[in-house]
Amino acid sequence: MQKLIKTVAELREGIDVVRRRGQSIGFVPTMGALHEGHLSLVRAARAECGCVVVSIFVNPTQFGPNEDFSKYPRTLDNDIELLAACGVNMVFCPSENEVYRKGHDTWVEVGAAAVPLEGECRPGHFRGVATVVLKLLNMVRPDAAYFGQKDYQQALVIRRMAADLDLPTEIRVCPIVREPDGLAMSSRNRYLSPAARQRALVLWKSLVLANELVEQGERDARTIAARMREVIESAEDARIDYVALVDPDSLRPVENIEGPTLAALAVKIENTRLIDNCILRGERRG
Ligand code: AMP
Repeated sequence: MQKLIKTVAELREGIDVVRRRGQSIGFVPTMGALHEGHLSLVRAARAECGCVVVSIFVNPTQFGPNEDFSKYPRTLDNDIELLAACGVNMVFCPSENEVYRKGHDTWVEVGAAAVPLEGECRPGHFRGVATVVLKLLNMVRPDAAYFGQKDYQQALVIRRMAADLDLPTEIRVCPIVREPDGLAMSSRNRYLSPAARQRALVLWKSLVLANELVEQGERDARTIAARMREVIESAEDARIDYVALVDPDSLRPVENIEGPTLAALAVKIENTRLIDNCILRGERRG
C-alpha cells in the first residue's frame, strides 16, 4: 500500500520503520504533473531499492518573480495514481509551510556549476533547487536519489553539492525520456497549444542537426551553434535564451568539438520556456 504523507514528522516515522527493517531507500524528488520522464526515475529507484519515496513539491524558492510558480500545473490525484501503479511506497507532498517553516533563513549556494546557462537566465534558481534538495535529502535520508539528464545542469549542481557537503546519498542521473516525435517530456509541455507543441519540435531538430554535423566531421562550435539557431528560429515565435556548446563537466564554452560536448538549449515558444540537451560525441580528428 502506498502511503500519502504530508508532514516531516510523519515522514521520519515512516522512514525509521523502513530503516529498522533494513531496507534500502530510493528517493525521487519532483514537482508533480508527472509524466513518463518522472516515472522512468521511479522505475530506476524501484529496480534498485527496497523502498521508494517520491516527493511532490512545487518549490517556490526556485522560481523567479516573473516565472510560472502560481500557474505551474498541479495534478496531485493523477500523480498519486501513477505512482501507485509503479509500486511507490511513500508519496511525500508537504505544504509550503511544512518545508519552509517560519523564520527559515539558510540557503545553499553552489559555485561555478550554478553560474552559466540556467544560472544566468534564472538568477537564484539553483540556490532554491540546492536548498530544497538538501532539505528533502535530510528528511528522507535515502541511499540513492534519482534525477533526470533533462535538467543536465541541475544534476551537475546536485552532484557538486552532494560531494562538497559529504552527503551519504548516491546521486543517480537517468536518460532523457522523449515523446515519440523527439520532444523531451516536461510538465511544462502541457502549457503549449497544439500548434506551439508542433513548433516546439525545433529544439529536438536542432539537437539532431548538431549530432549530424559532428558526425559529418564539423568541429567548429560556432558554426554548429549558428546552424542550430537557424533551425530554432524557423519557428516563428521562438525566442532563444541560449544555445550553448560547453564542456559537460565544467560547462565552459568549447571552441572545437574534440570530445564529449554538451549541447544545451533554452527556448521560449509561445511564452513557455523549454530546455533540452544532448551530448555530442566528437572525437579528435587525424
Ligand atoms: P521536475 O518535476 O520538473 O522538477 O522534475 C523532477 C525530476 O524529473 C528531475 O530530476 C528532472 O530532471 C526529471 N525529469 C523531468 N523530465 C524528464 C524527462 N523528460 N526525462 C527524464 N527525466 C526527467
